[in-house]
Amino acid sequence: MAIDQKILEELKAALLKEKEELEKNLARIARPVDKQDGDYETSFEDIGTDREDNASEVEQYSDNLPVEFALEKKLKDIISALERMENGTYGICENCNTEISLERLRANPSAKTCIKCN
Ligand SMILES: [Zn+2]
Repeated sequence: MAIDQKILEELKAALLKEKEELEKNLARIARPVDKQDGDYETSFEDIGTDREDNASEVEQYSDNLPVEFALEKKLKDIISALERMENGTYGICENCNTEISLERLRANPSAKTCIKCN
């Protein structure tokens, strides 16, 4: 692997920071199913029992769902990037096996593919 250890540490710190932020945001709208894997479930808040309350619960739930999916996807990308750092495959394009450019990794430390394959 061609990435300098110092740069790797830098990218890892960025990933961990982003992971923490995502977990914080996810905790507001979802509950963790499997924190290790970044699995979350959108929480269905029980605000009330009358008809109007139920309608706004459903509305809230459908508002949160796509947000939760997007955050969860990002979180999974970060977790898998951290795993790749552990096993030494970080920075290699998943698709064509070439090295992902450092500029790209700096801009998006959880990138799985090179610019060409993106
Ligand atoms: Zn590629």
